[in-house]
Amino acid sequence: MRIIVFLGAPGAGKGTAAAAVAKKTGARHVSTGAMLRDALARETPAGLEAKSYMESGGLVPDEVLCKMIAELLAETPKDATLFFDGFPRNEAQAAALDKLAAEAGATVDLALCIDVAKDALLARLGGRRVCPKCGAGYHVVSLPPKKEGVCDACGAELITRLDDQPATIAHRLEVYEQVTAPVVGWYERAGKLRRVDGSGSADEVAALVEAAVR
Ligand SMILES: [Zn+2]
Repeated sequence: MRIIVFLGAPGAGKGTAAAAVAKKTGARHVSTGAMLRDALARETPAGLEAKSYMESGGLVPDEVLCKMIAELLAETPKDATLFFDGFPRNEAQAAALDKLAAEAGATVDLALCIDVAKDALLARLGGRRVCPKCGAGYHVVSLPPKKEGVCDACGAELITRLDDQPATIAHRLEVYEQVTAPVVGWYERAGKLRRVDGSGSADEVAALVEAAVR
């Protein structure tokens, strides 16, 4: 089993690249959100534990996420490749993933960090718009609606999510620097880090990622 970890700041496009390259290469894209939803839907032991935290409005603790990953690794065929997206988010999780992988007879082979300059991240995140009625997503530069500020699909007025407001974006990038950026250092010290230029289009980034994971 190969495990490849995708790293990058909010807006760097790691989820998009991981999904595109997984589809092309037959790897399994494991985003933390999707893994959580799947474990909840199938009511696995870790899924049931997570449910109790979520129902009381809390965050799912690391130890429950780790149990979920152990369940996932146990049911993954030995010849599979997994792309982790959204985990690990801090150094403790990175250490936990190494241990879980070893217990499953696997290793984290590679950590891909998708690099995008801060100015470009701010422009990408700040340009996001979403339709509050049907959920369609837009971007003022890369995916504009036909009529400015109006949803193509249903005609509702587009909004900027709270997450994408300038003050929130600055905070998200700060949290990334403090908590997640050390994960990059963790894999760098282990000799497993590869950096990919994330400044191009989604297709260009996917091509670079595909070359790096082959
Ligand atoms: Zn709409």
